[in-house]
Amino acid sequence: ATDAAPARRTRPAMPPGAVLINANENPLGPCKAACDIIAAIAPKGGRYDIDGETGKLTKTFAEQNGLKENYIAVYAGSSEPLHYSVLAFTSPTRGFVTGDPSYEAGMRAAQVAKAKISKVPLTDTHAHDVKAMVAADPNAGIIYICNPNNPTGTLTTKEDIAWALEHKPAGSILLVDEAYIHLSEAPNVLDMVAADKDLIVLRTFSKVYGMAGIRCGLAVGRPDLLAKLTPYGMNAMPITGSAAANVSLLDTDLVPTRRKIIADTRNDTFAWLTANNYKFIPSHSNCFMIDTGRNGKSVISAMQAKNVYIGRTWPIWPNMVRVSVGTPEEMAKFKVAFKQVMDAPAT
Ligand code: PLP
Repeated sequence: ATDAAPARRTRPAMPPGAVLINANENPLGPCKAACDIIAAIAPKGGRYDIDGETGKLTKTFAEQNGLKENYIAVYAGSSEPLHYSVLAFTSPTRGFVTGDPSYEAGMRAAQVAKAKISKVPLTDTHAHDVKAMVAADPNAGIIYICNPNNPTGTLTTKEDIAWALEHKPAGSILLVDEAYIHLSEAPNVLDMVAADKDLIVLRTFSKVYGMAGIRCGLAVGRPDLLAKLTPYGMNAMPITGSAAANVSLLDTDLVPTRRKIIADTRNDTFAWLTANNYKFIPSHSNCFMIDTGRNGKSVISAMQAKNVYIGRTWPIWPNMVRVSVGTPEEMAKFKVAFKQVMDAPAT
C-alpha cells in the first residue's frame, strides 16, 4: 500500500514540553568537542569522507582497546551491523537465540532470514541464562547477548559469556550487544575479540555519548567474521558521525562523568519508587522496568495523556513498562504523572 508508514525510525513532532523517556536516549546530547567538530566539518559535507575521519576513529578505538584496526568496522549506528550480523549468520538452517525480554531488532532480522527463533527467559536475577541459551538450539547461528540488557538494565557476567563461547554450537557466534556498557559495570569482553574468539561485539555512540541523531556505531570482531557483514552494506559514514565519535572517545572525562549523572538520577528515581511501594527491577543502565500490576499499555497511554512518554511493554511481561532515565527535571515530571496514573483505578 502506498500510504504505509516508512519502515524507518522516525518520531512525529512532539507536543511542547513533552517528556521523552521512551527510547533510552541521552538528554545530554553530544559533548562540547563533538558539537564543535560537527559545526566545523559540516561545510565539508559535499565529500563522502574528508580528513580521514573514519580512519581516525578506527585508530583511536583500536589504540584505546588493544585491538588491530582491521578488527573494527564503523557504521552509522549499531543497528546496521546488528541486522547484518543476523542476516549473515542465521538462515533457515541456522537459528537465532535471544534472551526474553531483550532488544528485539535482531529477532526481526532473524525473521527476514527465516531462521528459527529461540526466546530464552532471563534467570531469576534477570541475567541471560547462558546454559539454557546454548542448549536452546543445536543448530544456532547466533546467540545474542545484550549486556547490559535492554529493557532490564541487568548484567551477564564475563564467566557466563566465556562459558557460552566455549560451549556454543559449532559454527555459531556470540553477538554481544554492548549499547549500554558505559553506563554500567558490565564486563568488557573486547579481550575475547583480541583473542580471536567467535564473537562480534557491537558498540554505539547513541547512548552514553549522546549521538543517537548523529549516528555512529561499531562492529568489533575477527576480520573474517566482519567480512561476512560487508555484502549486506558498507555505506559511507556521515563525516559528522565519525568525527564526533572520535573526539568523544578522546574526551576521557565523558564516560565517568555521564555515568555518574545518569546513575544519580536513576538511583533517585529508584528511591522514590521504593518509598511509594512501586515494584521495579534494579537496573545498571539508563532504562528500567516497572511492574505496574495492571496492563502496561494502559499505563503508557495514560502517561501520554499527561505528556510523559515512557517506553514499551514486552509480551512476556505485559504488566511491566520500560522507562528511560531522563534529566532530573524530566524524572520529577515522570514521578508526578506516574503517581496520578497509578492512583487512578485501572482501566
Ligand atoms: N542495541 C540495543 C540494545 C539498543 O537498545 C539500541 C537502540 O536503542 C541499538 C542496539 C541500536 O542503536 P543505534 O543504531 O542507535 O546504535
